[in-house]
Amino acid sequence: MSTVLSWGRYPHLPQEVHGVAWRDSAQAAWLDASRESGTTLAFGNGRSYGDSCLAASGHVVQTLALDRLIAADWQTGVLRAEPGVTLEQILDVAIPRGWMLPVTPGTKYATLGGAIANDVHGKNHHVRGTFGRHVRRFALARSDGTQFECSPDEQPEFFAATIGGLGLTGLILWAEIQLMPIRSSMIAMKSIRFTNLDEFFALSERLDPLHEYSVAWVDCQSRGSALGRGIFMVGDHATEGPLEVERRTKRIVPFTLPIPVFNRVTLRALNELYYQKQQSGEVSATVSYDTYFYPLDSLLEWNRIYGRAGFQQYQCVVPPSSAREATREILDAISESGTGSFLAVMKRCGDLRSPGLLSFPREGTSLALDFPQRDALNTRLFARLDAIVSEAGGRIYPAKDAHMSGADFRTAYPQWHQLEALRDPALLSRFWERTTRT
Ligand SMILES: Cc1cc2nc3c(=O)[nH]c(=O)nc-3n(C[C@H](O)[C@H](O)[C@H](O)COP(=O)(O)OP(=O)(O)OC[C@H]3O[C@@H](n4cnc5c(N)ncnc54)[C@H](O)[C@@H]3O)c2cc1C
Repeated sequence: MSTVLSWGRYPHLPQEVHGVAWRDSAQAAWLDASRESGTTLAFGNGRSYGDSCLAASGHVVQTLALDRLIAADWQTGVLRAEPGVTLEQILDVAIPRGWMLPVTPGTKYATLGGAIANDVHGKNHHVRGTFGRHVRRFALARSDGTQFECSPDEQPEFFAATIGGLGLTGLILWAEIQLMPIRSSMIAMKSIRFTNLDEFFALSERLDPLHEYSVAWVDCQSRGSALGRGIFMVGDHATEGPLEVERRTKRIVPFTLPIPVFNRVTLRALNELYYQKQQSGEVSATVSYDTYFYPLDSLLEWNRIYGRAGFQQYQCVVPPSSAREATREILDAISESGTGSFLAVMKRCGDLRSPGLLSFPREGTSLALDFPQRDALNTRLFARLDAIVSEAGGRIYPAKDAHMSGADFRTAYPQWHQLEALRDPALLSRFWERTTRT
């Protein structure tokens, strides 16, 4: 039997894979696997970083072979597909016809089922909210043998609990989403260097309302008056140009490096280099959607650069009232620790509500950062960051998490009781076991 890990390769808990190939027999195949191992969990393409996509039992039901597009109306942009279809597969058929995913995470290798279960968000959260806002309906299979459709009007509790429901309410068999019309597959983007955190907030306030996409790269090693310096990037779909699926040359990290490439010295140098490379003032460019949204996808298996121990991503969101102070404290703590990564992303999330019960995004400032795994990471740096986030009334993203305490999770997501009440007894993740039972 083959095994899979989550994207961060931490915790190192190889999952035995049970495959499902056909929609008609998926429920039976899942139940067979559950009978053998007690509980299981659906597994899309393993682009979640921590343990929310790992089954408590170590047995997952991988949905990647459920990869069929079922129906599409290219007049209205409504598309129905199986849950193992990747976002890339959707883009391949939608872009040439003038449609785009209304919300996309930073990888096109996530599946439709995974995008719903984590209610993913993207660079346009301030104008479109989360992925779940664009889900019209889906079919859910339960371990009691039932199957039913869920929408805001039919089985609304299951609709809400499944969006951002971490795969715990049942197996999604298909889903229907509303795509967004575009006139070109190119993105007109602008990047602007900012010298500290206050400038980030000023740029965000001024530019977010004017652009579809907005995100910033932050130099996590900057300190003192330069703390939080970085590059602010906004973008919009070009109004003219081709509607083309781009095929970029892909490279692959061929094996897992024995030790991570990032350390205090390389990190500082890389950040400095990247920051200085951007000229001061504004730089405009028109780039393909692939280059704009998915820069990391061009390096396959890039998670291997973090070495055998793997890595963790820390992503939190803090509300507007405490955002400035909390972000400053978080960046200070990270810069002092001398660890972190080259990939530090900051974004202001908007106030559009998700239909999902347990969705992560909320209005405020979100910060995401990768850290090579090492022994003291959870007990020292993450403990300090957790205290800042919790004091600020913020929360951590379960899709990226492998360390959050049960108490922090239950305080930040008080609706967890409602999800637990609707959880399918045959589904249990390691994340859910860790955060709701300790
Ligand atoms: C480079 C990179 C960039 C990223 N950027 C972002 C970002 O910008 N925003 C963001 O929100 N996330 C981001 N992510 C995280 C990623 O988008 C999510 O973790 C996504 O859910 C992964 O999808 P997946 O198909 O790989 O699902 P998996 O990670 O395999 O599983 C995720 C969840 O989906 C559930 N699931 C999968 N299929 C089904 C099904 N058929 N029925 C029920 N449940 C199911 C699983 O049980 C699990 O709980 C990023 C990840 C990477 C690697």
